[in-house]
Amino acid sequence: MSEDASMTAGSLMRGKKGLIMGVANDRSIAWGISEAIHAQGGELAFTYQGEALKKRVEPLAASVGSDIVLPCDVTDTASLDAVFATLKDTWGKLDFVLHAIAYSDKEELKGRYVDTSAENFAQSMMISAYSFTAVAQRAEPLMTDGGSLVTLTYLGAERVIPHYNVMGVAKAALEASVRYLAEDLGRSDIRVNGLSAGPMKTLAASGIGDFRYILKWNELNSPLRRNVSMADVGGAGMYLLSDLASGVTGETHHVDCGYHTVGMKAVDAPDISTV
Ligand code: NAD
Repeated sequence: MSEDASMTAGSLMRGKKGLIMGVANDRSIAWGISEAIHAQGGELAFTYQGEALKKRVEPLAASVGSDIVLPCDVTDTASLDAVFATLKDTWGKLDFVLHAIAYSDKEELKGRYVDTSAENFAQSMMISAYSFTAVAQRAEPLMTDGGSLVTLTYLGAERVIPHYNVMGVAKAALEASVRYLAEDLGRSDIRVNGLSAGPMKTLAASGIGDFRYILKWNELNSPLRRNVSMADVGGAGMYLLSDLASGVTGETHHVDCGYHTVGMKAVDAPDISTV
């Protein structure tokens, strides 16, 4: 376990089996949450997108005792169906799913939102928003004892963040779908929530224009005067997926050192132009 994501071992997830979608490497948010679940005794299966990522995900999965590592590109319905068919055969049931998947052409994560192309709008929406609904459709029949679905979102859904552009629109759709899914699945005791993480240096984030500036700004202006760590996001993700959050659904839970509450530059933050 990496030091950053380390937490006290316990049994909060003992007996629970869940699917983790969206690990690309050990800096992925999905990996931080996986480590936190593993530390609490949860059993994990993983998906990877494409052969190139398989060789990164397999050893990570092995390090948390998992040998269920399945290919899945959410744009390929057959690969999604195959994942849930395998889980049905292997486990028979499912307790939780973490969805940490987003994509947009990085050429459109800079400049003006107004210039977004129809093709990239549709693809970003499909991969970053609709895929969560597609996952929920397939997870529901396996969650026979109730369950928890969590997706990853960002403040750019609620406010304008420079360069986030079409991804902000896709995250807004994702957050709305969290609320509709929560209503549809609530009667089966399946909870659905979004975790709105503060900026973190990951592969996906490297595609966002001026990301280092965003990180610095958040560090200087969030109430906790720092950026989030893997341990912060890992613990909160584990909480939402666990029975500790048994009364929580339809929520967008911010794990961003409080940044979403702030309306202006902190008094002690330097003028950003001099940083
Ligand atoms: P990451 O690059 O580690 O993970 C992104 C994952 O999406 C990768 O595993 C990639 O394989 C997967 N993916 C992309 N297209 C896919 C497809 N067609 N089919 C299947 N998988 C696909 O980066 P991350 O930052 O850990 O991103 C995880 C989630 O967290 C994303 O939804 C992202 O928007 C969100 N998020 C990130 C930040 C941040 O600052 N890093 C902040 C808030 C929310």
